Amino acid sequence: MTHHYDVVILGAGPAGTACALALQHSGLRVALVDKDQFPRDKVCGDAIPGLALKAIRQLSPTLYEELYALPQKAETRDSRLFAPDGGDIRVRWQIQTFNSPRLHFDARLLEMVQAHTTTQVQLDFSVKDIHITAEQVTLLPANGQAPLTCQLLIGCDGANSVAARKLTQRPLDRAHQCVAVRAYFQGLIDTDETTTEFYFLREYLAGYFWIFPVGDGVYNVGFGMLSSDVAAQKLDLKKVLLAITREHPQVAKRFAQASQLSKVSGFGLPLGGKSRPISGTRFLLCGDAASLIDPLQGHGIDTAIQSGILAARQAMRCFEQQDFSAAQMRWYEQAVYQQIGKKLARSYRLMRFISTKPWLVNAGFGLARHAWVKKWLLKVVG
Ligand SMILES: Cc1cc2nc3c(=O)[nH]c(=O)nc-3n(C[C@H](O)[C@H](O)[C@H](O)COP(=O)(O)OP(=O)(O)OC[C@H]3O[C@@H](n4cnc5c(N)ncnc54)[C@H](O)[C@@H]3O)c2cc1C
Repeated sequence: MTHHYDVVILGAGPAGTACALALQHSGLRVALVDKDQFPRDKVCGDAIPGLALKAIRQLSPTLYEELYALPQKAETRDSRLFAPDGGDIRVRWQIQTFNSPRLHFDARLLEMVQAHTTTQVQLDFSVKDIHITAEQVTLLPANGQAPLTCQLLIGCDGANSVAARKLTQRPLDRAHQCVAVRAYFQGLIDTDETTTEFYFLREYLAGYFWIFPVGDGVYNVGFGMLSSDVAAQKLDLKKVLLAITREHPQVAKRFAQASQLSKVSGFGLPLGGKSRPISGTRFLLCGDAASLIDPLQGHGIDTAIQSGILAARQAMRCFEQQDFSAAQMRWYEQAVYQQIGKKLARSYRLMRFISTKPWLVNAGFGLARHAWVKKWLLKVVG
């Protein structure tokens, strides 16, 4: 027995849930499937970009308020950035935002889908293969459950996307791939629960080490770098992360009495800044499945949500015009490029430019102490 839908959204992370919320009044029969049960952990820095919340607010102020009311969070207004030479600057962000463990943040988004839409949510549904014909899409699950069919597939299945792998040509590209690790700690000294901290380290540019408060005295501590640099330097990032907390002159004293609450876990970050196919006949890709992570800062929750909403608009257009062709999907590709891709390309160029120049980063920090330079820099990095 198969179940047929107008739209199947594959993956219930920020991209998939935002897409389902944006289809709220579409009248379409929508299924949202995920391989996991929720709440589920997702390896992340847990810093929710202000633009992610802005996109939800533009969708619906009520949904925004519901998301903002999430109790497990640390509201963050400031960042402290440390240069390779140890100098630091403080930055106050314009948009209100928070950090929240993805365990809770993603579960809240899914609850909102269940409360406000007629979407059929199917969890524990791991897709192993996808077939597309001129008439329909078939999703084959891994565990002997009935397949799903639909008119349009929206692939929101993250960094290891089955949809991207099966439906587009995408060779491994370590120059556009980052790898990052994180663990939770408590008992840090000299921390402030409203400030995120970034350390740019001379030996590991253009990656960075972070300390992000996530509420209740808990900190998400992590480190990420370009995969090509990790491979070239033969680094074990899990070991590097713990070594920084023990040995780095500015960091180690902060961890003197800290306790580690979780093991160090890692995951890939598919970076944007490169033109790739993200749609085709009867399918669209969003979020990490479309490689939309900011290359300089490593955030992707905002672009996942933005692209999920753009995909929902494209889906409605497809059904209005009864056209699911690759040509019809170009509107989506152009919209993603205009709203997201252009900025990611600029960010990628900047990341590559500074990656071998610690002196430039130090000089940039020095200059950024001047108010107008800081303002300009904030505009450049978003
Ligand atoms: C260490 C690290 C730190 C990061 N820090 C930040 C940060 O602080 N801020 C930020 O904005 N971004 C950060 N990112 C990036 C961010 O995690 C991603 O950009 C974001 O999660 C993308 O959302 P998504 O919905 O596209 O994919 P995901 O959040 O990965 O969701 C994909 C969903 O698809 C499901 N799925 C996958 N495969 C299948 C399958 N075969 N069948 C069914 N379901 C499937 C998964 O279970 C998952 O629920 C970080 C990433 C890493 C690795």
